[in-house]
Amino acid sequence: MSRKTDSVPDLVTAARGGSPRAVARLISLVEDASPLLREVMAALAPHTGSARLIGVTGSPGVGKSTTTNALVAELRRRGERVGVLAVDPSSPFSGGALLGDRVRMSDHATDSGVFIRSMASRGHLGGLSWSTPQAVRVLDAAGFDTVVIETVGVGQSEVEIAALADTTLVLLAPGMGDGIQAAKAGILEIGDLFVVNKADRDGAASVARDLRAMLTLAERGPDGWQPEIVKTVASVGTGLDELADALDRHQVWLEDTGHLARRRTRRAREEVQAIALEAVRARWGEVGDRGRLEELAAQVAAGTIDPYAAADALVAAS
Ligand code: GDP
Repeated sequence: MSRKTDSVPDLVTAARGGSPRAVARLISLVEDASPLLREVMAALAPHTGSARLIGVTGSPGVGKSTTTNALVAELRRRGERVGVLAVDPSSPFSGGALLGDRVRMSDHATDSGVFIRSMASRGHLGGLSWSTPQAVRVLDAAGFDTVVIETVGVGQSEVEIAALADTTLVLLAPGMGDGIQAAKAGILEIGDLFVVNKADRDGAASVARDLRAMLTLAERGPDGWQPEIVKTVASVGTGLDELADALDRHQVWLEDTGHLARRRTRRAREEVQAIALEAVRARWGEVGDRGRLEELAAQVAAGTIDPYAAADALVAAS
């Protein structure tokens, strides 16, 4: 690859023009923690803020990749461009060409309206909270209407993923520990929508019933959203229309109540903090003034400055 092809303005222009190669290259810069990222994020900031972010989580084997694949197909039918980040917090592998990607992508391989990429967080620079939001910025600026963040592998990352998304989908399936899956620390509280997948199998109705009972009892905080439960057979695409409708309802609710702006500001606050923390840790090992962080997070969420500029201001103030 020539230097010219890799210049940041060229890459950003190409990514915004729909080049999958440019999008992939920009995400590689994120994974590699490239010094060019500062320039990349500054160039992307004015073009971000319109993508809807959906987090998909659940135990291994429950059907996350099958459901993501089927959801991509449904959203494509509805005319959306869809990006998928399959995030594996437990894997040190980096490169975006995992075998699973090919399986996962086979249905969408020739569709330029779909971009699918695996990301590993390599255990440096704040991990998921550092790299994923920046990869999301790339897809957002490249014009993807919806970005699905799917956890792969085994990890304690459910809550972390929920913090990155506008809408968190929690998947369950019959025969996998049933209610116990849902009662696992944090799951009932983080799900905006619950999917009972493998509804073709015995026990799906009782998983949904137990879940509904547990959700009624769960302490869900004061936000007022009643989580919906959708049954799917992802392997044949059943229930995906209902799931896409439920996702739309949640997005409308987020917008109407102001929760979307609040969630995004909270997310930007964590993103700025992850970048600033690395900088501050490198120099002094401590975080600075939290009042200033709030102001900067609001500005980044509004797109008026990029996260690197905000991090600089935070570091300078501490
Ligand atoms: P993940 O580990 O959560 O990503 O799960 P996968 O998407 O890889 O699915 C695990 C297994 O369940 C695969 O063999 C799928 O073919 C199968 N599977 C996924 N969805 C369904 C479904 O709706 N019904 C049935 N019977 N099997 C399914």
